[in-house]
Amino acid sequence: MISDKTIYLDWAATTPLCEEAASAMAPFLCGGAANLEIGGNANSLHSVGRRAFSAMEQAREGLSRCIGCRPDELFFTSGATEADNTALFGIVSAVKRKKALAGDAAFTPHIITTSIEHEAVLAPAHLLERMGVQLTVLKPDRAGFVSARQVEEALRPNTVLVSVMLANNEVGSVQPLEEIVGVAHAMGVLVHTDAVQALGKIPIDLHSLGVDAASFSAHKICGPKGMGALYLAKGTPCDPFMLGGGQESGFRSGTQNVAGMVGFAAAAQRMCDPDALRCEAARLGSMRDSLYERLCSVKGVRKSVPCEAGSTSYLPNIANFVVEGVESETMILRLDRRGIMVSGGSACSSKDLSPNRILTQLGFDRDSALCSLRVSMGPLTTEDDIREFEGHFKDMVEWARS
Ligand code: PLP
Repeated sequence: MISDKTIYLDWAATTPLCEEAASAMAPFLCGGAANLEIGGNANSLHSVGRRAFSAMEQAREGLSRCIGCRPDELFFTSGATEADNTALFGIVSAVKRKKALAGDAAFTPHIITTSIEHEAVLAPAHLLERMGVQLTVLKPDRAGFVSARQVEEALRPNTVLVSVMLANNEVGSVQPLEEIVGVAHAMGVLVHTDAVQALGKIPIDLHSLGVDAASFSAHKICGPKGMGALYLAKGTPCDPFMLGGGQESGFRSGTQNVAGMVGFAAAAQRMCDPDALRCEAARLGSMRDSLYERLCSVKGVRKSVPCEAGSTSYLPNIANFVVEGVESETMILRLDRRGIMVSGGSACSSKDLSPNRILTQLGFDRDSALCSLRVSMGPLTTEDDIREFEGHFKDMVEWARS
């Protein structure tokens, strides 16, 4: 049977644009006679340009309020991939340049990251290594966490940067960032965090978290795709990654995507409002807990991580399973025929039939890591969706094993 109803349970991959973002963006996208005055280039001196500039700065202010930083510490980018790349290359380059200016031209920087980072962090980290930077990649424990102690033990006199994600995109583990910042800062080392999956799911206050740099993406919180932001705490050394016309205070060149910026800010305001976030996290967390309880009652199905009911050590919207003997691809395609969208890993790597990289890092053997299933929920997910998914999931497992 091919279903005509879609149950979308892949919100960690991307999310639909919310109405708040769509209506905030519309005037900047559509232009036309009536809207010409606000469809301008934010860098033009005339009044149309100044209005675009003012909308962009309002967006920057709105987003910075949602994440607890100052507007002048926030730079808009084309997504979190660009923000992550900029943080890694930019910080290493700026520190190296400073050392050279101080007479230490031979300084070799060392950076620390984890093996469960998104490729947007791991790929630049490995390229930096090929360029001569020393790299330490920390392995998480079986539950999906790296500890401040691991970071402390990996620090060297030449360590310049630690990059640890705030929450993992596949199993949802929330890392002990405050403690990691504590040990890194005690040695004068900067900390970057990829906060993409955490935004809108758990409260984020960058100034109290204490990180020096953080990356965000709009399309994970019902904002537009191709829009992100990099937070750089005042004074953090970071060379620009995109050079050209000097937009974003000279830090990120390229004509600004004003529609994307206002859409990002509108989505963040909707998703990060403290009361709304608390209620939504409780609602999603309770669906996550039921999913874990009910799916694990099926023979051969187990949680990928030891997430207990009510746990805040894991994101409330992600549940991850190992379904022994049923490969991810089979599950995804079979459920898709019933109108259910799930994932076997992150969207960026899901066309690749190798075992799930994160589960492998968590210590699962190859056979189990080939059989992973990620269910991720969002504001439009209902209890009925979850019930319906459970029924189809059980049929699918029965069919696969028959
Ligand atoms: N970091 C994490 C943790 C992600 O989940 C993603 C998207 O899958 C990215 C970075 C990349 O974000 P973007 O799609 O905005 O480049």
